[in-house]
Amino acid sequence: MGSISGSHLRNSEDLLRRLKGTSMRYKKMASYDVKSLFTQVPTDGALEAVWRVVINMDEEELPLPRGDFMKLVSMCVNFGSFTFEGEEFLQHSGLAMGSPLSAVAACLFMEVQEKDHYSHIIGRRAIWLRYVDDVLIIAPNRTDLDDVRSQLNRVNPQIQFTIEEEEEGKLPFLDTLLIKTTEGLMFRVYRKPTNRDDFIHYLSAHNERTKKGVVMGFFLRAYRICSEEFLEEEIEYIIAAFLKLGYPKGLILSLRRRAEEIIHTSRLREGNATTKTSYMALPNSEKVGDIIRMLRSTEVKAAVTSGTKIGDMIKSGTKMRGREDSVVYKIPCTSCDKAYYGETKRGLNTRIREHKADLRHHRLTNAMVVHVDDSGHLPQWNRAEILHEGMDKKVRKSIEAAYITTRPNINNKAGSFTWAKSSANIALRDWLSQRANQDAALYVRTPP
Ligand SMILES: [Zn+2]
Repeated sequence: MGSISGSHLRNSEDLLRRLKGTSMRYKKMASYDVKSLFTQVPTDGALEAVWRVVINMDEEELPLPRGDFMKLVSMCVNFGSFTFEGEEFLQHSGLAMGSPLSAVAACLFMEVQEKDHYSHIIGRRAIWLRYVDDVLIIAPNRTDLDDVRSQLNRVNPQIQFTIEEEEEGKLPFLDTLLIKTTEGLMFRVYRKPTNRDDFIHYLSAHNERTKKGVVMGFFLRAYRICSEEFLEEEIEYIIAAFLKLGYPKGLILSLRRRAEEIIHTSRLREGNATTKTSYMALPNSEKVGDIIRMLRSTEVKAAVTSGTKIGDMIKSGTKMRGREDSVVYKIPCTSCDKAYYGETKRGLNTRIREHKADLRHHRLTNAMVVHVDDSGHLPQWNRAEILHEGMDKKVRKSIEAAYITTRPNINNKAGSFTWAKSSANIALRDWLSQRANQDAALYVRTPP
């Protein structure tokens, strides 16, 4: 192993896999860290890096013609507008903070730097592994790693590395502590000196699954990262930390067994081809555990999104003022049990006027007009009702889609959001109870 190509790391497990069996004789290690990478990457450099990938792709693989695709990427990369405390700001330099494109563009930019410049500086004798802006370098003992850093920093005045060298044969990198031994590298979980183990308390109102998930996460990480020599110590550390947070010992130990099983089966599977797992996001509710159990025998895994927090309810309560025109509504049919479900930000009455105009002008783009055409059934205007109000667009669209997925309707498409019927039902129940809570909150706030 050596040289810089294929330096990109996916996670700390990937790191461990790559370092397995690396001899550390006459070698030392350090980490280089780019100072605030995202804001320092020049936008034209990022665009060039994306272009170098896109130009080599089959046009079939792209969702759009190559030229249009790059035009869109360029627009996104150059769009640095953001709101802070109600004011609009424009970001002058670097990639937009918080844009999902930025991480990809920054990585590609770094790859170009590595290929074009850094590889000449690093040479073929060193190992260079990078996770976004963190680089691990392992080099022969005689290498002056600080001098290497100065050379790297001269390449591009905006991309400046800081250095952390090993201390007594130890170096923290990502969430792993690398330990140099005569037999090669050993690993254990790294915790920052400021770490205080203040995770979710067992008595907190989080869903049971979330709490179990946190504990599981720690055990899984221990099994994945720790070399045998350090595993027992880490497991004991985790048990003590969660006992202190009020978790029952029996629960902790059973989660530990479960984690062990998971690691065991995943290591068995490792030899075989890697299977891709798809996840389905489910809103939190009482029944969600049953659904997840049902899915266990299938290829689909489910993840639970966090439930409604008190803060969310208060926020949506206050947001509702002045947003009563943002609604999801239902217009039933006079002659069958179907209904039309829709959403708008301009209020139900405006929408009814528009529907009536569509009928008059026989506009077949409106599903309601099609139903009248096909069956002779008329909409029951006087029973049109608002189902939910005061949400933003994304929520409105997903609620509308949930109704269309689960209720008899005359809409001709499922809406802009695809639901599985089971999760749409759970989500609707959640929204309906949220609505009841908001009604109650407003009722309390209204002076008598
Ligand atoms: Zn009908």
